[in-house]
Amino acid sequence: MTARTLITDAQNTWCPGCGNFSLQHALRSVLLDLEKGGTSLDDVVLVTGIGCHAKMADYLDVNSFYAIHGRVLPVATGIKLANPDLTVIGCAGDGDAYAEGLDHLIFAAKRNVDIAVFIHNNRVYGLTTGQYTPTSPLGFKGRSTPSGTPEYPLNPLELMYASGATYIARGYSRNQPLLKKTMAEAVSHRGFSFVDILQICATYFDAHDVYDKHVYELAGHDPRDPQQALRKILEWDYNTPAPIGLGTFFERELPTFGSRLPRLAPVPPDRRELIQRLLGTLR
Ligand code: SF4
Ligand code: MG
Repeated sequence: MTARTLITDAQNTWCPGCGNFSLQHALRSVLLDLEKGGTSLDDVVLVTGIGCHAKMADYLDVNSFYAIHGRVLPVATGIKLANPDLTVIGCAGDGDAYAEGLDHLIFAAKRNVDIAVFIHNNRVYGLTTGQYTPTSPLGFKGRSTPSGTPEYPLNPLELMYASGATYIARGYSRNQPLLKKTMAEAVSHRGFSFVDILQICATYFDAHDVYDKHVYELAGHDPRDPQQALRKILEWDYNTPAPIGLGTFFERELPTFGSRLPRLAPVPPDRRELIQRLLGTLR
């Protein structure tokens, strides 16, 4: 294991210019800082879904679980409940989280599961060569919508606010320092942390001109004021040109899902015996 770099020797197949490189770099820095701060990386688990983003599990040398499409949240939830001492981080794509896995995302937020989720929101299905997703802008022309999608995009921050997420932020792959800071905050927040990251897809939806023109870092904003948070969340609808705030929009403390669950029966000291008993029950 290359503990110092956290980069595996897997061949990297992301396209040149892909925003995923920036997310990988930021998350790697956050993990290395965690380690410097005394957290063993043996106690960190990364869960990914299916899509270009999911290769984070191939390229970052940490404990990881490659889930199926849309299932990052239930897998991450299960890992956290089974071992609350672990730091559990999920990476999902916009198609992964806002289409196939939408119900899981909503319930993870509603339950306030103590995990951090980073959405690589390139607003397109990149791995399958350019179909529209729930956050593609109206009129987006892709493989499945050659005449342009007739749907308005959803605002994932608004959805997460309504669902009860206790930490809501937005990042941008071309603002590395803020991205790293926001990711670190999300990991340290106790409860459900959601970060929607505008990630450039260099091949199928390169919106960097638009983003570069409109993004700004939130300043003088109080994320603990719910009304202020909602106003900022609604400032950009993911469709029409508008100022695009980056940083922490909303934050509050609430008991986590794990802390509110009824106590489970104590696990017998001999785990092998327990597994054998469970398998026996299944037969
Ligand atoms: Fe990145 Fe898009 Fe290429 Fe996928 S298709 S690797 S998201 S640039
Ligand atoms: Mg995508």
